[in-house]
Amino acid sequence: MVRTRFAPSPTGFLHIGGARTALFSWAYAKKNNGTFILRVEDTDLERSSQESVDSIIEGMNWLGLHHDEGPFFQMQRMERYKQVIQQMLDAGTAYYCYCSKDELDVMREEQRSNGEKPRYNRKCRESHKPRDGVQPVVRFKNPTDGVVAWDDLVKGRIEIANSELDDLIIARPDGTPTYNFCVVVDDWDMGITHVTRGDDHVNNTPRQINILKALGVTPPQYAHLPMILRDDGQKMSKRRDPVSVMQYKDMGILPEALLNYLARLCWGHGDDEVFSIEQFIEWFDLSNISPSPARFDMKKLHWVNAQHIKSMSNDKLIDLLKPKLTNYNLSGLDLMAILDLVKSRSDNLNSLATEVAYFYQPQITNEADVAKHLTPEAISILASFANALENIPEWTLDSIKATIKEFCTSNNVKMPQLGMPLRLKLCGTTQTPSFDAVIYILGKNNALSRIAN
Ligand code: GLU
Repeated sequence: MVRTRFAPSPTGFLHIGGARTALFSWAYAKKNNGTFILRVEDTDLERSSQESVDSIIEGMNWLGLHHDEGPFFQMQRMERYKQVIQQMLDAGTAYYCYCSKDELDVMREEQRSNGEKPRYNRKCRESHKPRDGVQPVVRFKNPTDGVVAWDDLVKGRIEIANSELDDLIIARPDGTPTYNFCVVVDDWDMGITHVTRGDDHVNNTPRQINILKALGVTPPQYAHLPMILRDDGQKMSKRRDPVSVMQYKDMGILPEALLNYLARLCWGHGDDEVFSIEQFIEWFDLSNISPSPARFDMKKLHWVNAQHIKSMSNDKLIDLLKPKLTNYNLSGLDLMAILDLVKSRSDNLNSLATEVAYFYQPQITNEADVAKHLTPEAISILASFANALENIPEWTLDSIKATIKEFCTSNNVKMPQLGMPLRLKLCGTTQTPSFDAVIYILGKNNALSRIAN
C-alpha cells in the first residue's frame, strides 16, 4: 500500500515549489490507490503560524490536492517523540551528552586548526557522568563505519560514508526533539512508503535512514525533486517573483493549468504539453522525474493556461468568471455565444473577464485610441453605417456580414475605416473579435445605441 505525505513548514504561504512537491506526492498516491497525508511541521515556534497553515491548506484546496489523512501537527506529537527518544536511550542507540557549549567550541577550534572537519568527538558516547547543573542533550549513535546508501528515485544511487556523519543531537537540553528526529518518527508512525521532497533535504536523508535503521524500521523510498529556478537560472525570490500559489489564482491562472505546468517542469510524457490531471496520474511515475533544475517560464505557463481555457466548458468558465463580473448584469445577452467568441483570445481569466465585460458595457482601455480613431470623418461614417444597420432585412450573422460589405463598397470605405471606430464605439477597445460577430451578439438595439452614444 503506497502512503505518501506532504510535510510543509507553516512559515508562509504555499510556495509553487511546495505545490509541485505536493502534486507529485499526491499523484503518486492516487496512481497507486494509496493514501496522501498532510503533515504540518510546526516545531519552529517562532516562524510557524496558524495563518500560514490556513493559507497552505487554501492553496492545496484550490489546486485540488486534497489529503486523505491529517493534517497532523508535529507540535501535537511531542509525547510520542519523547517516548521514542527514551526507547532509543534504553536500547543504547542514543546517549546523553553532557559536554558544555564551551567544551564543544574548544573541540571544534582544535579540529579546525588540525585541518579536520569540525564535529562532535563522541566523548560521551561510551561513558558519561551526569554533571551538576548541566541538562544533557540526547545524541544518536551514528554507525562509525560503512556507508549509508539509498537509490533515490530521482537522483539515482547516493552513498555517504558514515565517517562523514556526526552523532546528531535528537533532543535538546529541555527534552524537545530536533527536526530530523521528528521527521523520522513521523515517517515511521505514518507508514510512509515514498518520501517526495525538495532536494534541499538530501543532506538530511542519510541521517534519517540511520535513525530509522537503529529503530529497526525499513526506510521509505526517497524522491528528491530538483529546484525550480527563474527563467534566467537564478533562484526565485519572494520580492521579485510570484512564488505563492494564490498569486497565480489572482493572475487568472486555472488550477488545472498550474498543475499541468508544474508537472511539465521536471517531468514529461513524450511531446505532450497539455493534459488533464487524470491523464497526468495515469502517465506519472516518480522514476520519470528529471534530476536537473527546472526553469520557470511565465510565458509557457500562460500558453498552457490558454489551452486549458480554450478547452474548458462554458458552464465551468462562467462559474469562474462570475465573481470577476459582479458589476455587470449578465442577463440580456447570450453569454454562451460571447464565450464561444472570446475564450480562445485570452491566456488568463482576468483578461477573459475583461473581454466578456465589454459586451455588457464598453471598456475604454486606451484613451489614445479614441482620439486616433474617432475623428469627425469616422463619426460620419458610423452615422451612415448605423442607418444601414437600422434597415437590415433580418438579424443574422450572414446578413450583418452582407450589410457591412455592401456599406463599404457603396460608400467607398475600407474595412478598417469602419471597423476601428465601430469597435471602439461598441466595446471601448479596438482589440475585439470580428466586429460582425460582436454586432450580432449585442443585438440591434444595443449596437445602435452604442454607435449613437
Ligand atoms: N518541512 C520540510 C519543508 O518544508 C519538508 C521535510 C520533508 O519533506 O521531509 O521543507
